[in-house]
Amino acid sequence: MPASSFLETPIEFLKGVGPQRGEVLRGELGIATFGDLLLHVPFRYVDRSRFHTVREASPDLPHVQLRGVLGDLRTVGEKRGRRLVARFTDDTGGIELVWFKGIRWLQGSLKPGQEYIAFGKVNEFRGKLSLPHPELELAATYQAGLDAALQPVYSTTEKATAKGLHSRGIAKLTRTLLTLPELQLPETLSAELVQWLGGVSRDAAFRQVHAPQDQQKLEAARRRLKFEELFFIQLQLLKQKQLVQQQVKGHVFGQVGELLNTFYRDHIPFEPTGAQKRVVKEVRKDMGSGRQMNRLVQGDVGSGKTLVALLSMLIALDNGFQAALMAPTEILAQQHFRTLSAMLKDMPVEVRLLTGSTKSAERKSLLTALKTGHIGILVGTHALLEETVQFERLGLVVIDEQHRFGVAQRARLWRKNTVPPHVLVMTATPIPRTLAMTLYGDLDVSVIDELPPGRKPVKTVHRYDHARNAVFAFLEEEIAKGRQVYVVYPLIEGSEKLDLKDVTDGFESISRRFPLPKYAVSIVHGRMDQATKDYEMGRFKKGETDILVATTVIEVGVDVPNASVMVIENAERFGLSQLHQLRGRVGRGAEQSFCILMTGDKLGEDARTRLGTMVDTNDGFKIAEVDLRLRGPGDLMGTQQSGIPELHLADLVEDADLLQQARAAAQRLLDADPELRDPKHAPIAGTLAEQLRERAVWGRIS
Ligand code: ADP
Ligand code: MG
Repeated sequence: MPASSFLETPIEFLKGVGPQRGEVLRGELGIATFGDLLLHVPFRYVDRSRFHTVREASPDLPHVQLRGVLGDLRTVGEKRGRRLVARFTDDTGGIELVWFKGIRWLQGSLKPGQEYIAFGKVNEFRGKLSLPHPELELAATYQAGLDAALQPVYSTTEKATAKGLHSRGIAKLTRTLLTLPELQLPETLSAELVQWLGGVSRDAAFRQVHAPQDQQKLEAARRRLKFEELFFIQLQLLKQKQLVQQQVKGHVFGQVGELLNTFYRDHIPFEPTGAQKRVVKEVRKDMGSGRQMNRLVQGDVGSGKTLVALLSMLIALDNGFQAALMAPTEILAQQHFRTLSAMLKDMPVEVRLLTGSTKSAERKSLLTALKTGHIGILVGTHALLEETVQFERLGLVVIDEQHRFGVAQRARLWRKNTVPPHVLVMTATPIPRTLAMTLYGDLDVSVIDELPPGRKPVKTVHRYDHARNAVFAFLEEEIAKGRQVYVVYPLIEGSEKLDLKDVTDGFESISRRFPLPKYAVSIVHGRMDQATKDYEMGRFKKGETDILVATTVIEVGVDVPNASVMVIENAERFGLSQLHQLRGRVGRGAEQSFCILMTGDKLGEDARTRLGTMVDTNDGFKIAEVDLRLRGPGDLMGTQQSGIPELHLADLVEDADLLQQARAAAQRLLDADPELRDPKHAPIAGTLAEQLRERAVWGRIS
């Protein structure tokens, strides 16, 4: 039997499993096959070389290991309080073992009167000690393992534990599997890489992580497996990029023409920063290369991504193509439309706006103008993706704030032409480098790492609700200087009523504190209709109101340079990246700006870290790193389009260096042997092909 099909053997065929536990392994732990069991690697190791006496047992110890005799099993309590108890005694005393789950199974399998090894965490309740849900094993058959100081700990669930599939139960199954003579894990890396990784074969590595011989060997094995995991992710991404570059031709924008030159000479409102120039140069190079551009531009809020987008679009226009700019919200699309229209005011470029609320008569004429090529730049929302939106010659699509667009939507843009347009994705949410490498490994990345001149970093402070009066007095001073203020309330998911109450209560109390006619206060929230929202936003933008009370609808992109204070209410309820986005709304003019984070007195540890980070730094990348640490990669990117591959061992935060090395190794490999034809690389080629096949299957399902 080939090694791979042996690994696909259903788990119930492993000695000690059977149909019932097989069901539990599948349902609870996702372990359906022999191979899955091997991939279920320990998440830590505990020292089980040491035994304790019952007298030593204490809730202060992380765990205890006892050798003693199991007493009679009794059930006590009713309904939800029903539990199984048994005395467990050694020469020094006795302790009570307790189980709340799996009572029937335990009654059938435990043997009172026999000597057992019990392992678990001691619990103290009203001065009485007990050992809840201990791992129990007959002392007669107990094997300490190769190195008892490094006993694997596997993740499991309560339900699985109730069927004897606690960590040690799983360890036992794993050991059974590892001793099967048929088990031979095929190598996935080249001999050269294996050697670079300390000569640890894949087979040896898996044996070592499940049953370590010593700390050093364990470390080497874990490193080897982590590397492999990261290496193949990078290889897939780089391969994908290579395929796109080989197969997908791109429009060649060979010339810099009239429009760009005229704009640059006569209309550009400010000198571009060095970073803006560099990124435009990178874009230009991509678009002139004959290959389709897929570039991600990361630039902190306020770094001037709009200008980069505009210059790039003018290059497309100069080469006889149309361009589109897509924004995630109506407000943003409108703002981009206004900004671009203003900058291109005296230039022969037709800029139009298409959103969900474009009236049908206008829409009709717009679509015709688009199809016949009379529109140069189309700005819009998701509405641009609809089938009816047909360009004459779409050459470039700029996607702003990409996070809110799925990968699938990106793909839909391609179908609008036989030759796909160049794609420039702009994001203001800085992504830690490790994550960017994993998520957007198939994109090229540019970074705008410089803010326009004259900006003063926003000063950020944390204030408690009881200091509100001082905060209001400060707002008064700033308004007296002619500045404007945002006061933002969190959106509470799934409870729009509460949001509305927060923001309207806030509006009322602020209106009382800052009364007419001396002051004017606007309010904007998600439950207003579009026209009212626009009207209120408009008043604030024009400087007719001093304070804008809002929910997070203003989070993204809104640009009012005269607003210099951002007050965030219930700041503890916001995630870091959201706080950073909100803060980015101020500090856009030359004035000193402020961000005031308001909270109640009681704060959790994570909230403290978030607020402390905001106070300490304005650097979006640093903030993103902390965010990644706090939330983990899945959460950071949002569940709907996380696209983050599942990692069994590697950790994007801890293993950043290894990731870097894996990426470099994958790149080196593809440079040397683009098609992976060299027999030396056969194991890698085979593994990659298998993974791509699996991915394709998943792609069809999801
Ligand atoms: P973001 O990267 O957040 O989209 P914007 O493109 O909205 O940033 O630019 C932020 C502000 O900075 C805008 O008011 C814009 O006019 C201004 N700006 C952009 N580039 C420059 C520059 N090179 N010099 C001066 N101001 C600039
Ligand atoms: Mg922007």
